[in-house]
Parts: sequence; structure tokens; C-alpha cells
Amino acid sequence: MFKINAQDRAVDFLKKTIEEKSLSHFYLFYGPPGVGKMTAALAFAAGLLCEAPENYEACGKCANCRRVLHANCPNIITIKPDGKVIKIDQIRELQSYLKFKMEQGESRFFIIDDAHKMTREAANSLLKVLEEPPGGTFFILISDNIDLMPATVVSRGQLIKFNPVPRSVIDEILREKGCSKEKAAAVSLVSRGSVGNALTLMEDEEVVAQRENIIAFLAHLPTRRAKILEFAAELDANYDVPLGLDIVFSCYRDLLVWQATGKDKMIINQDFIDGIRKRVFCPGTLLKKLDDIIYAQRAISNNANRLLTLETLLLNLNDQSS
Ligand SMILES: [Zn+2]
Repeated sequence: MFKINAQDRAVDFLKKTIEEKSLSHFYLFYGPPGVGKMTAALAFAAGLLCEAPENYEACGKCANCRRVLHANCPNIITIKPDGKVIKIDQIRELQSYLKFKMEQGESRFFIIDDAHKMTREAANSLLKVLEEPPGGTFFILISDNIDLMPATVVSRGQLIKFNPVPRSVIDEILREKGCSKEKAAAVSLVSRGSVGNALTLMEDEEVVAQRENIIAFLAHLPTRRAKILEFAAELDANYDVPLGLDIVFSCYRDLLVWQATGKDKMIINQDFIDGIRKRVFCPGTLLKKLDDIIYAQRAISNNANRLLTLETLLLNLNDQSS
């Protein structure tokens, strides 16, 4: 009843802990955003709350399963950041829930989303609860940035890792949702292994337009220096720059693959094919250009001057010498 894509290891492990009754009272689900951590948390809770589980999975039909599906199950309490952080008051509220006694054999779940956003006070307060949780109580902390969490919390949890979803799987999901082949290929490429990202990008016409503009620009290289600087400024001012650089990278990846194989079907950006056919570089030059793109991506994520980095990159890409 819960669809979790390409996380077999995590899902199988959780199912096994139910089957073998080797449950931990504190799980930490971590990995990139939009890969199914929350869905897996709900599936796990439903698996334990279900009145008629099938093969240790929720049936999806009983009253309890329906409550989980409709997000009105009283045994599942979800905590999310209030503004930018999870405050100590939110953890105190959680503690007040713990005072309610449960029936024999009953389970309840506290799911803390974006757990790395707990303030230090909130984390310390939670630690006290984790030391002696009442029976039948499960904590599932979810984070896409486990490095920001206090080691004292992380070390107490059963860690469950979630991986980026492979591009082919995202591509398939998008096609099922009615995306064209070209768009699915492009969106899956820049979604960074996140189904959530891909579904947002699929609906975002602005992103589609930005991608087309970038491809059109690259297809018309080489061009005059003034044009390069103008486009760099445009990117800096109006574009999602990390996404834009992913698109640039994918185009140069296409160039390299096409020159190595000569096969159109290997090309991700099918609308870039005409641009590709007229450009010939030696492989060393292409690798150097891919390196330049990676360098720019890193520099920008490390807060280098963005406009200057984009100008330098585009001038390097425009350079015809090999
Ligand atoms: Zn059920």
C-alpha cells in the first residue's frame, strides 16, 4: 500500500525486524531527500499496527491501515520543524503524550522529520526520553543531513540508510505519470536521485524552459565573448544555478558519449543532438571541460563568487582549442 522505490535493502531489513521480532525502539532513517524515508516510516508503522498483516506487511484494508493512509492514526505522531528548527517545546509535547498509558500489545510511533533541525536543547531533551522509552513506543528520526545531528543521538539509533534512486527508475516513474520521453530523460537526470525532486521538476515549466535555453546556448557555441558574459549574468540572476550546471554537465557527458559510440540513443538530451553533431573535440578536451564544470559546481557550493565562476566556466567551455 506504500510505494517505496529502489530501497530494497532498507525495506527488507525493516520487514525482517518485524518478522524476527528484533525491533529497536529507535530508528534513524537517513539519506538524500525525496527517496522514500517518510513513506518507509509510515509503512513500517502500518506493518506493526495492521490488524491482518500479510507476509509482515500492512494489508492496506483494515481500519488501522486506512487510518495510517489517511494520516489520522492516533498511534502515529509526526513532528516537523516549526519554522526553521524543531524546538524543545515540541519535544516536551511529545513527552506529555508518553504519559498516556497504552493497552497491552499496543504500539505507538513518534516520527521526527528533518531531525537534524532539532535545537541542541531539543536533542538533549529527546535523549532523556530515548534512554528509557515505555514499551511499545517507537521513535523514527528522519534526516537528509545526518552529519548535523549530535553524535550522542546518532549513536543510540538503529541506522537505516536510504540511497539515491537510480535514474532509470525515476525515468520510469515519470513516464508512468505521462511525461514525454525527452522530458523524463532530462528531469530524471537532474533530479539527483530524488523521486520527490523529479515530481516537482516535472510540474515546473520554468525549469523546462531553463533547460531548453541552456541547451540552445550550448548548441550555439562557440560565440562572442560578450554573448558569453551576458548569458553568465542571466544564469546568475534568473536561474536555478546548481540545476543549470547539472544540465550543462549532462550535455558535455552526451558529447563525450556520442563521440565514443556514435549512437543517438545513448544521448540523454535528445534535443541537443544537432548541437552535438557539429561539435568535435578530442576526448582529452572534453574530459577537461567536464572537469571545469565539476570545479565550478564545487566552487559555487563552497560560496565562491557565483557570477565570476559562471563567467570563467562558460569562457572555458567556449574555448575551441584542444
Ligand atoms: Zn491492515
